[in-house]
Amino acid sequence: MFDHLREKIRDVPDFPTPGVIFKDITTLLKDGPAFKEVIDTLVERYRQRGIDAVVAIESRGYIFGAPLAAALGVGLIPVRKMGKLPAETISATYELEYGKETVEMHRDAILPGQKVLIVDDLLATGGTANAAKSLVEQLGGKVEGFAFLIELTFLKGRDKLTGYDVFTMITY
Ligand code: 5GP
Repeated sequence: MFDHLREKIRDVPDFPTPGVIFKDITTLLKDGPAFKEVIDTLVERYRQRGIDAVVAIESRGYIFGAPLAAALGVGLIPVRKMGKLPAETISATYELEYGKETVEMHRDAILPGQKVLIVDDLLATGGTANAAKSLVEQLGGKVEGFAFLIELTFLKGRDKLTGYDVFTMITY
């Protein structure tokens, strides 16, 4: 369905480390109609879903989450790497292939019962998205769904998000 958008994604071999083929979204972003189509598709999909806020994951999640939140007329809540947010935070730690990563959200970012959509550019192992979910749920928020531009299906990130609505536009 979005095969014409898939052609806009550039494969960069050996980035950030040897053996990894990085999906580079900048080639899609610089194409105005393609970028607009992504945002319009998300706006259309989530317009009627009663979303109270968009939670966007550092840093490429902001590129899609911010215009989506503005178009829906709801707030944008950043999830950031540890140590970047200025006020009181909550945190979630998850395993990477080598080591651990911690992400944070402001403690007052979400009110109990608020319905949020979690947005990022790409779903790989699902560790990052799952950590964002745990931050939302620690604050009593309700995760209405997840939206990603790209899904690397062979890494089975979806399995970490079982029971939730997961929307992806381009799969590999
Ligand atoms: P996960 O936690 O699902 O394994 O990894 C997803 C996170 O890593 C996302 O925040 C995403 O931005 C980043 N990421 C991992 N691999 C790629 C890639 O090939 N391309 C892009 N654009 N982001 C990636």
